[in-house]
Amino acid sequence: MASGQNVSRVTKAPIRAGPYNEDQLCFPMKILISNDDGYQAPGIVALYEALKDVAEVEVIAPEQNNSAKSNALTLNSPMYVNRASNGFRYINGTPADCVHIALTGLLGYRPDLVVSGINNGANMGDDTIYSGTVGAAMEGYLFGVPAIAFSQVEKNWGELEAAARTARELVLQMARQNLIGASPWLLNVNIPNLPFAQLGHIKLCRLGRRHAAEPVIQQTSPRGETMYWIGAAGPALDEAEGTDFHATAQGHIAMTPLKVDLTDHDRLGYWAQTAARLRQGDPSAS
Ligand code: MN
Repeated sequence: MASGQNVSRVTKAPIRAGPYNEDQLCFPMKILISNDDGYQAPGIVALYEALKDVAEVEVIAPEQNNSAKSNALTLNSPMYVNRASNGFRYINGTPADCVHIALTGLLGYRPDLVVSGINNGANMGDDTIYSGTVGAAMEGYLFGVPAIAFSQVEKNWGELEAAARTARELVLQMARQNLIGASPWLLNVNIPNLPFAQLGHIKLCRLGRRHAAEPVIQQTSPRGETMYWIGAAGPALDEAEGTDFHATAQGHIAMTPLKVDLTDHDRLGYWAQTAARLRQGDPSAS
């Protein structure tokens, strides 16, 4: 693959990580950036600023906040692509729509990497099922492109520059080690809201688990109708050592490789027997 050749050529150059403008790299690496908070969110602007001088970067992101849209695609309404004054393109669709449209026609080339984020808040444990940030990255992965989802653990963008620098240095390290443009993988990265010098190491983690979400919130509309608001995510249920919750609580950057196969491999044997019994009990099966 052409991009793989390009990356291997680049890694021979003497490259050092450092402040944004220290190394003027001539990476031929092509990065597609998206997110779920919308193209105007501080997180995607910071990510673009951090990556723009190490790669050819395109930003294609939702027009509106699309948090918790997971991998949703828009099938029943048309979408439009617009370009903002800063060059970002935005679409009236979901995060997965943006990456899907980019990869299947809009870009006209195959990026070496899809980067999503930086999200306004954690995407740990069960969050990854719902997360539009992960959904955008996963869409890239499903099309065979390596992808990373970045999130800050706390909301409201505290220490965003440190998170963006973390993202940049991780991407640079991966490029140097020929991990970008190779076979696809999907990484979920959560970064504590700490100054760069105080951030811990990158810890490879499994996903933790959350308790069930808080109850739905009921209110009465001005017209007297009952309205429902989805409640907050539940607190951590499994935050044992080795989980993303544990690592970030210790000030470390949590990195979890994700896969998409939802098959319950551990229970295939159990269900094979059970399915056989179900067939026996089915009169049409005899
Ligand atoms: Mn979000």
